[in-house]
Amino acid sequence: MPGGYGKLRSVKERNLCVESGCPAPCCSNVWLALVGEEKKRVKDYFPGVIELDQNDLHDKYLIINGVYCSEYRGKLEVKIVGPCPNLKEGYDCDIYQDKPNACKLFVMGGEECSKAKKSVFRKG
Ligand code: SF4
Ligand code: SF4
Repeated sequence: MPGGYGKLRSVKERNLCVESGCPAPCCSNVWLALVGEEKKRVKDYFPGVIELDQNDLHDKYLIINGVYCSEYRGKLEVKIVGPCPNLKEGYDCDIYQDKPNACKLFVMGGEECSKAKKSVFRKG
């Protein structure tokens, strides 16, 4: 039934990370790789993204908060310096329902999640 289907699609996926109170260390100072069709959508995901050449992207002195990218061997490397601009108050992701696949690798309790939490713990 079309009406019923529409209702189902409008159900917002729960963000368990937010519900757990995690301050989302995985959403600051991270590298993401976009592949396939997602490469064309980089400006949808990160509207202020700045394209750089490989050397500049990997320059350790690239410390101004923002999102930078560079094409490398068929993938688009994305470097987020500082907090991701999609991170909202309360550590929710503004594009949670449609975030890139690279962000989906950060599963609560998964390997990348643990690494992100440990890196914050080390800095603290
Ligand atoms: S994936 Fe892990 S580190 Fe990232 S927001 Fe969720 S619980 Fe926090
Ligand atoms: S797009 Fe969302 S999930 Fe991905 S790094 Fe930014 S805030 Fe985190």
